[in-house]
Amino acid sequence: MNLVQEVLCMSHMEEIFGINVFNDSVMRQRLPKETYKALHKTIDEGRRLDADVASVVANAMKDWALERGATHYTHWFQPLNSVTAEKHDAFISPIPGGAVIQEFSGKELVRGEADASSLPNGGLRSTFEARGYTAWDPTSYAFIKDHVLCIPTAYCSYGGEALDKKTPLLRSMEALNKQAVRILHLFGRLDATRVTPTVGPEQEYFLVDKDLFDRRSDLIFSGRTLFGAKPPKGQELGDHFFGTIQTRVQAFMADLNEELWKLGVLAKTEHNETAPAQHEMAPIYAIANVACDHNQITMEMMKKIALRHHLVCLLSEKPFEGVNGSGKHNNWSMFTNTGYNLLEPGDSPHESAQFLCFLTAVIKAVDENQDLLRASVASAGNDHRLGGCEAPPPIISIFLGDELTEILDALEAGADYSGREKTLMTVGVHALPKFPRDTTDRNRTSPFAFTGNKFEFRSLGSSASVSDANVVLNTIVAESLRQFADELENAEDFRGSLHSLIVRTIREHKRIIFNGNNYSPEWIAEAAKRGLMSLPSTVDALPCYTAEKNIRLFETHHVLSGSELRSRRDIGLDSYAKMINIEAETMLMMARRQILPAVMKYSGSLASSLASVKDAGCSLVNGSVLLSDLCQEIDQLKEKVDFLSETLGSRPDTDLPEAAARYMHDLVLPAMSSLRASADRLECITDRSCWPFPTYDELLFSIQ
Ligand code: ADP
Ligand code: MG
Repeated sequence: MNLVQEVLCMSHMEEIFGINVFNDSVMRQRLPKETYKALHKTIDEGRRLDADVASVVANAMKDWALERGATHYTHWFQPLNSVTAEKHDAFISPIPGGAVIQEFSGKELVRGEADASSLPNGGLRSTFEARGYTAWDPTSYAFIKDHVLCIPTAYCSYGGEALDKKTPLLRSMEALNKQAVRILHLFGRLDATRVTPTVGPEQEYFLVDKDLFDRRSDLIFSGRTLFGAKPPKGQELGDHFFGTIQTRVQAFMADLNEELWKLGVLAKTEHNETAPAQHEMAPIYAIANVACDHNQITMEMMKKIALRHHLVCLLSEKPFEGVNGSGKHNNWSMFTNTGYNLLEPGDSPHESAQFLCFLTAVIKAVDENQDLLRASVASAGNDHRLGGCEAPPPIISIFLGDELTEILDALEAGADYSGREKTLMTVGVHALPKFPRDTTDRNRTSPFAFTGNKFEFRSLGSSASVSDANVVLNTIVAESLRQFADELENAEDFRGSLHSLIVRTIREHKRIIFNGNNYSPEWIAEAAKRGLMSLPSTVDALPCYTAEKNIRLFETHHVLSGSELRSRRDIGLDSYAKMINIEAETMLMMARRQILPAVMKYSGSLASSLASVKDAGCSLVNGSVLLSDLCQEIDQLKEKVDFLSETLGSRPDTDLPEAAARYMHDLVLPAMSSLRASADRLECITDRSCWPFPTYDELLFSIQ
């Protein structure tokens, strides 16, 4: 792009950015001053929206939406199965005389009713009380998508139990706000009246050609390949990461950016990822609930826009064996309403002390709640990634970098920090010695890394909502801060007490800090020695949600009740079992109806070729070996098919999601792997033209 093109592109971007969003500047333009102010009070301070204000806002929103071509509105919400749900209503009201007018009331804006009895609720709501209620989240702007005005909403049962991913996220943000403000006031920052977590999720994905996708039932039904021999080339040359973006992918990315910008999503960075056909998009961070909404929109747009380019976007965590899978790096920090990042180390002794207080609160939270962080990223798809030496292991630890770790060590020991500037540090008296902010930190092996002024939680799966992980993060940090505030509020000597609190916290929780290679086998052993938790699979992790300590924690902060936690555990385990069942059924179908017939046909043609050669008077010494190897593999494949089918058929008839999931994990998954291994071996000795579906080399390398 030359300079002129770049300038044109910029101005185009400025023109389209947010055109489909009922954002602050639209509100300022279209709402009477008093209404605008009242709405802002709700947004900034979390106040309840007054009915009169709501109806003025609703009317302005409707007029704006109609002008922009919308015909319907929907309360856009995020049920417990990690997708978004919408039911469209036309802006239509009958008037006497058989005519209609387009109407939208304050009541319709603020609260909706959804009969969503088919959405997962994990026992929170029985079908005969199918009604659920939706309530507008005014901190996340309404937007227009496909001629529908989408109002971001929370979704609750008749009894007020959260049936969605937004409600607990908003509650956890409130919990964090409350405790963080207590701490800031102790530091004399009385101007800070609100603290909000910020999130920047980096989203990885794969693109495959639509024609190839359509010919693979596994991609269609499970979003990942269940068969496929390794191609001669994978990612070993490292030539895809940050490589020149293919023309077709570039066109997709340009289109995606444009659609996201129109929807107010701050899409910023795009690049090729490690695996062939893998890419990444990172937006500029936003407040946690908006970042979560935007990430849902991003995933939806990625899928839609790929189709325009005759591509399919795969968001599954492990679409291809043998190359990296996809995750979502959740960058997280906390900001005050005065614009101060609480994880920014700062220059003065006062700022350093405050930073150390928040930093150690996070360290304590992560150490005490490894189980919850692991559970928050658990899913059937993500299990294939975590621990596969391409993503962090299922053991939670923190990377701080050597310099910051040394500073904490020196603090704990009351010794000189031996870095570049030698100082004996006392919290509140000394500023933190300058340590290099490792913005280029590429210790990509750590699940939870401090990267200069934020933490990056890297264990999330690519298809997951970021809500679960952030609900946990906000709540566990709120709990550390609550304990800190309780202690410090009663202290006679604030500075002295703060110093000993920080030193004590480092001492008690430093086992969670690990700056080395998290992929190495030595770390697994070392982590066990340190007493860190290892929860390899979803079936091990999800039940942790309802451990007594965790119910107490979530209830203390009014984020989730015991029954809301049970529902989340059970829905997670149930979808795990269902997902593996779908995958196993798909494998059986492909093996029986595609692979077996294809290899039988090929063995027949190989046999007749051999016979013809022999008839012609030649002898192919190894020909019969070829055929007998093939037949042996075919026999084995048939055995593996029968075994998987029997294993699947004998699954326990149980209402207990944990038992069902456990069976799938312990018995069905190994039977699937062994069937796959056998089919992949056959693929390598079968005539390419006979193989019944596209192979890895086509799927991974065909997009130009
Ligand atoms: P990289 O990790 O590749 O070095 P950055 O650290 O600049 O890139 O940003 C990665 C993501 O982190 C982006 O989405 C960015 O907006 C987000 N981010 C940066 N600062 C913060 C913050 N204070 N809170 C939350 N997210 C942040
Ligand atoms: Mg990053």
